[in-house]
Amino acid sequence: AKDKGRNQFCYFTRAMQQNAQNRRQLLRDLAGALGQRQFLLHYQPIVELATGRVRKGEALIRWMHPSLGLIGPGEFIPLAEDAGIIVGIGDWVFREAARQAALWRASHHADFQISVNVSPAQFAAEGLSHDEWLAHLQQLDLPGHSIVVEITERLLMDTNPEVRNKLLAFRDAGIQVALDDFGTGYSSLSYLKKFDIDYIKIDQSFVRNLGPDTDDMALCEAIIVMAHKLGLKVIAEGVETIDQRDLLIRAGCDYGQGYLFSAPLAAEKFSVFLESFA
Ligand code: C2E
Ligand code: CA
Ligand code: CA
Ligand code: CA
Repeated sequence: AKDKGRNQFCYFTRAMQQNAQNRRQLLRDLAGALGQRQFLLHYQPIVELATGRVRKGEALIRWMHPSLGLIGPGEFIPLAEDAGIIVGIGDWVFREAARQAALWRASHHADFQISVNVSPAQFAAEGLSHDEWLAHLQQLDLPGHSIVVEITERLLMDTNPEVRNKLLAFRDAGIQVALDDFGTGYSSLSYLKKFDIDYIKIDQSFVRNLGPDTDDMALCEAIIVMAHKLGLKVIAEGVETIDQRDLLIRAGCDYGQGYLFSAPLAAEKFSVFLESFA
């Protein structure tokens, strides 16, 4: 059951990848998927550990392929990046997530916040238009702080001025920034100081083997202490057991996300979840 989340969709693609022709077909299908409205978002609750409250969720894209069924982002986001179609897909993700956030803010929690994953390719010069994104938020009457942009350490190492410009434009608009998969990249702690970041997401590889007096426990504790001293909040990813949750609470971790609380859910089911974790 290890790596269940990552591999749950896609046993077919492993065979497909061995077949260049099928791969080209998948790419053609992917290029048409946006126009055919085949993408959907699932939402995973992010739980405030001290209270059990849910005021945040992460939007995670899925592709409903007409013949292959539901395909996970690990299988097609890299393809979309290579094919240069990630920008259009990412724009759709942002708009759809913002639309849903506005609904949940109206129906459930006025302070509800949605996290959106943004690929490095989207921050390039030919990438997303931050003006259009911000205009979209205004149309929805959504404040910037209702959105969290999840980026990776890799992006912060990018010296392209466009990356910095877009991040700064988001920050100026009040959009928050989370550093995803923390600890897995070529981490340099200096980036935490150089860029204004709000959340660190501890990668699930550190959470998986958490136990009292383990190396991963020491790492998590150190990350949490450091983050708090820098004024950042910490989200632990991949929380699957009560023991992991309790250890994280004891270490002072702010938020948890993982199968213990809930898998990513279709919007209607997430609404039900919001009701029960008021
Ligand atoms: P991520 O941002 O690190 O997202 C967390 C992944 O861990 C998700 O996989 C989630 O379903 C899975 N997960 C959640 N809880 C658990 C748990 O308790 N245990 C385990 N083992 N896994 C858990 P998913 O949805 O397959 O997404 C994979 C990756 O695809 C994401 O990793 C993210 O990097 C990327 N991705 C997803 N949606 C988007 C998107 O809209 N745009 C872009 N650019 N990338 C996306
Ligand atoms: Ca993420
Ligand atoms: Ca992550
Ligand atoms: Ca800050």
